[in-house]
Amino acid sequence: MIIKSVSLEKSLREAIAKFIKLSIVDEKAIKELTKEIQKALISADVNVKLAVELAKKINERALKEEIKKGLTLREHVLNIVYEELTNLLGQSYVPEIKRKKILLIGLYGSGKTTSAAKIANYFTKRGLSVLLVGADVERAAAREQLKQLSALANAKFFSIENASSKEIVLKALEISKEDIIIVDSAGRSAFDDVLAKELKEIYEILKPDEVFLVLSADIGQVAGKQAEQFSKILPINGIILTKMDGSSKGGGALSAVSKANCKISFIGTGEKIDDLELYDAKNYVSRLLGMPDIKGLIEKFEKIKDEVKISEEDRIDLETFRMQLKAAKKLGPFGKVMSMFGASVPAEVIASGEEKIKKFEAILDSMTKEERRNPDLLKKNPSRIKRIALGSGCKEEDVKNLLNEFEKMKKMLEMFIKNRSFRARFEKMFGMRFT
Ligand code: GDP
Ligand code: MG
Repeated sequence: MIIKSVSLEKSLREAIAKFIKLSIVDEKAIKELTKEIQKALISADVNVKLAVELAKKINERALKEEIKKGLTLREHVLNIVYEELTNLLGQSYVPEIKRKKILLIGLYGSGKTTSAAKIANYFTKRGLSVLLVGADVERAAAREQLKQLSALANAKFFSIENASSKEIVLKALEISKEDIIIVDSAGRSAFDDVLAKELKEIYEILKPDEVFLVLSADIGQVAGKQAEQFSKILPINGIILTKMDGSSKGGGALSAVSKANCKISFIGTGEKIDDLELYDAKNYVSRLLGMPDIKGLIEKFEKIKDEVKISEEDRIDLETFRMQLKAAKKLGPFGKVMSMFGASVPAEVIASGEEKIKKFEAILDSMTKEERRNPDLLKKNPSRIKRIALGSGCKEEDVKNLLNEFEKMKKMLEMFIKNRSFRARFEKMFGMRFT
């Protein structure tokens, strides 16, 4: 039998999706939602007492607090869920800009070496000098990797060939004149006693001010187990959660945070040296739940809802499409709007989506209203297509591409308008009618 471990983000999203789909929001529905959130948190190793208190608080606030203007009861409840989860996850992290010694620990491939260089870069950019110490003696390539990254980070690099990690750290302390020392320690493919011993020794010698555990977002709930193992040997000050640019929502970090009794400090968002963010609870929760700050979005949506309305009498042509695009843009970044629809869109797709929208807009703007009303005019008319391509600064290919994509979208939109149950789902989600 295969036991599938359900990720925290999945169970939270399911609880919310279930709540959104309910036709009536009442006390019972709210209770059910908070019960499921509590269950999800407890299975992600969040302290039981904390999870129970959180559920209770959401329940109380949802029932007692006055509903803000413009919000439906459903949105009111979801917004409280969002706010309370944000509170639970702590505030943002801001590193102190001062002299200190930092130790990075974690398994192979978690992103230790890359993160060491990113943090060095963070401090050198703020005027401090940094020494990066390569104490991963297991792999020769690791030192070379750190050496190259040090140059990019404007940091000094130190290591010794054929020496133990202990010797390297001792010597580094002796020679260092830098404000900040960052030690990149050895990893393993799995936690073991040899690694534990080595890390303890480094810790005793270095006496770091801060120890960061590096975890990759894509390992899911295993993060909790790793945090537990590492925190048994060393006190951990913060977690560096890497690879958050991938498709993972990083829900595993919540288990890690509970097990290691610390907060997330840095977020890695790519392979490059600048791809480092300071942890921010609001962003993290948005990502986890796949929904941004509802209150903010709803306020914007209220303002433009007449503009995005389509009714059954409306013709679907490039003119309505253009109006929809312009209205959707007012809702903010494309990715946020997409995540509101419950889709999880990888960063690169969001980037290409925004590019595409810009291109589409330019092309649509270069058409005459008559052409937008009647796209057939363009289909077999190369000279019109050529003119539009020139006017919008795009290739003729792009214009044809838009026409093809529009045909596909038109089918979806027609389905949206004609198919009542499909539409009802969206209406429930937004708490407003589209027709
Ligand atoms: P270490 O074994 O723990 O030292 O891990 P490395 O720093 O060598 O990183 C392992 C791989 O993950 C490398 O290919 C890195 O470029 C990549 N990596 C590290 N951090 C990130 C991140 O935040 N995003 C992405 N996409 N890749 C990362
Ligand atoms: Mg490494």
